[in-house]
Amino acid sequence: MEQVQNKQIILKDYVNGFPKESDMPITSSTINLKLPEGSNAVLVKNLYLSCDPYMRGRMSKSEGSYVASFTPGSPITGYGVAKVLDSGHSKFKKGDFVWGMTGWEEYSIINAPETLFKIQDTDVPLSYYTGLLGMAGMTAYVGFYEICAPKKGEYVYVSAAAGAVGQLVGQFAKLCGCYVVGSAGTKEKVDLLKNKYGFDEAFNYKEEQDLTAALKRCFPNGIDIYFENVGGKMLEAVLSNMRLNGRIAACGMISQYNLEEGEGVRNLFLVVTKRLRIQGFIIGDHYHMYPKYMETVLPLIKQGKICYIEDVVEGLESAPAALVGLFSGRNVGKQVVVVARE
Ligand code: NAP
Repeated sequence: MEQVQNKQIILKDYVNGFPKESDMPITSSTINLKLPEGSNAVLVKNLYLSCDPYMRGRMSKSEGSYVASFTPGSPITGYGVAKVLDSGHSKFKKGDFVWGMTGWEEYSIINAPETLFKIQDTDVPLSYYTGLLGMAGMTAYVGFYEICAPKKGEYVYVSAAAGAVGQLVGQFAKLCGCYVVGSAGTKEKVDLLKNKYGFDEAFNYKEEQDLTAALKRCFPNGIDIYFENVGGKMLEAVLSNMRLNGRIAACGMISQYNLEEGEGVRNLFLVVTKRLRIQGFIIGDHYHMYPKYMETVLPLIKQGKICYIEDVVEGLESAPAALVGLFSGRNVGKQVVVVARE
C-alpha cells in the first residue's frame, strides 16, 4: 500500500472575534492511497478548495447551529473539487472528478460519498465547481429566482456585490431585465461591478457617511428586491429605502459573523408598514435544483453571457490567509485555493 505524506490545515482552537491565520496551523500526517477492503468511502486527491464566509461560524463552539462546529485539532472541512483515487462506493470510480465537502488537506477519505456531486462537464475550468458551478452559484440562483421572485423592470440592490455570490446575483438580475445596483468595499470592486459585471450603478459603502442617503441616491424610487449578504447597518439603511411589497432574500450577514454580540436593526416596524417579505434560506436545502441550475447556467457560460471572476491563491499553506481575507474584503471575486492541478 502506498503511504504518502498528507499536509493538513487544522483548527487550533475555537475562535472568538476575527479569525487569524495562526488559528489554522499546517501540519502533516500520513495516508494510505488505497482504501481498506470493504470500505464504502471514497479516497480523493484535493485540487481546489473554496473559502466561504459560513466557515467562520464553524470555528466557534456552537450548539444548535445549522452546521456543525469544526473539531479543534482536526482538519478544517469545506467545499472543494477533487479527483477520485479509490472508491468503495458504486456511484464513483477512480479518475472521476467530484465536488462537495472535503478536507483542507492534500488527500481526504470521504466517509459520506453520497453527499458528493460527480462532475460531468469538464470543458469549463474545474475550479468553477468551487463557486459558479457549485455552492455559491446555486446560492445566487436559488436566492434570486426562488426567494426574490423577480419581475422585469424591478429595482434590485445587492450588497457584497463583487464577491462569489453577489457578482452572480447582479448578472442574473440584469438577465431578468431588472435595474441593479451593487455595493462593495473598494474602488477596484466598484469599477468591476459597473464595467465588467454590468451593474447599472455601484458604490463603495466604506466611503459613504450615510448609507440611507447613498441608497436614496441610487434608488430615488426605492428598492423592490434586496439580496442581503451583509446585515447590520446596511440592512437598516435598506429597510428605509424599500418599496411597498418589497422582498428581501436573507442570504448572509457577514458584518455580524465576528461580533461578540450582533448589532440591532432599529427600524423593523417598516417590515409591517411596507408589507415586506424577508425570507432566509440555506442553500443545503435546495440542492435538488442543481440539475436545473446547470441546465440554465452552462449555456450562459458557453455563450459568454455570464462573467465570473475568481481570486486564486496557490498552495494549501495559503488557505488560512485566504479565508481570513474574506472578512476584510481582501478577495476580489470568488476565493479559491489551489492545492494541486490534477
Ligand atoms: P464573498 O462576497 O466572496 O466574500 C465576502 C465579502 O464580504 C468580502 O469580500 C467583503 O467585500 C465583504 N465583507 C466582509 N466583511 C464585511 C463587512 N463587515 N461589511 C460589509 N461587507 C463585508 O463571499 P460569498 O461567498 O459571496 O458570500 C456572500 C454572503 O452570502 C455571505 O454573507 C455568506 O455568508 C452568504 N452565503 C449564504 C449562503 C446560504 O446558504 N444562505 C450560501 C453562501 C453564501 P467588500 O470588499 O465588499 O467589503
